[in-house]
Amino acid sequence: MILLDGKIASQSVKDELLLQVKKLKEEHKRVPHLAAILVGNNGASETYVASKVKNCSEIGFRSSLIRFDSDVNEDELLTAIIKLNNDEAIDGILVQLPLPKHISEQKVIETISPTKDVDGFHPINAGKLVQGFPVFVPATPYGVMLMLEHFNIDTQGKNAVVIGRSNIVGRPMSVLLSGNHKYGNCTVTICHSHTKNLEEICSQADILVSAIGNPGMIKANMVKQGAVIIDVGITRVDDATAVKGFRIKGDVDFNDVATKASALTPVPGGVGLMTIAGLLKNTMKAYLNK
Ligand code: NAD
Repeated sequence: MILLDGKIASQSVKDELLLQVKKLKEEHKRVPHLAAILVGNNGASETYVASKVKNCSEIGFRSSLIRFDSDVNEDELLTAIIKLNNDEAIDGILVQLPLPKHISEQKVIETISPTKDVDGFHPINAGKLVQGFPVFVPATPYGVMLMLEHFNIDTQGKNAVVIGRSNIVGRPMSVLLSGNHKYGNCTVTICHSHTKNLEEICSQADILVSAIGNPGMIKANMVKQGAVIIDVGITRVDDATAVKGFRIKGDVDFNDVATKASALTPVPGGVGLMTIAGLLKNTMKAYLNK
């Protein structure tokens, strides 16, 4: 079985970006600049944003972290986004989700300029993705595609099953895998919480992408012999023996599924790292588009 190691694949994306930044610096040009907005102090969001900022600095991008208390009012947040939209020095903007309940995520997403929408959540970018136009692809499915590319996984004509239909992961993932390109051209089935016979559908998949958020739910009996398994799920599971008091678990029961899969992503160390690689590539793209 091949371990689809996100450390290796994301490092190769970052090495490429590092070279691009080096060239910009040699030409005395400014470097790409990502602005990240964090509202409140949700532990997982703190970790994700810190990691995005750290990765920017590793490859020589600039980044700005803008923090708001969890009781920030919606107008104040939208005004800050508009200011970033109008700031020539900022190439990419992301607002870490989820947001407190009193703020409309949809309004926030639609306020980010589509030209700086490096998370690829704006409806204009989502629509362009469906129609196959060059666009900011949502970072997680983009990261999965970069993973398939890095390990040269043959997807042509394969049966792909995507579990999850969110706008952030499942839905764009299904669009990408069915697209007419080298790491697409799959026949895609999309499953969700109302799907009947999930086990039967999954066990026919040559490529199975799970984006549910239910730790260990995907077992070997749901997997076809030799399938490629991509585990997007990330759940914090309480564990008193762990230093932080919790462990990160994927949707896939790794040891069980490893007995049948031909290739499998670990959690942590898989798609999470590729998501950051996708975000960094989108930020470079936003910079180059200017
Ligand atoms: P979501 O809650 O919006 O979507 C979950 C999907 O799973 C839904 O479409 C739902 O219909 C489906 N589902 C739930 N229970 C099911 C069941 N029993 N059978 C079949 N389908 C079922 O979540 P999301 O934002 O799409 O994220 C999904 C998972 O991916 C979460 O664990 C999240 O933390 C993780 N995630 C990871 C990354 C990463 O970088 N690796 C990025 C984003 C999200």
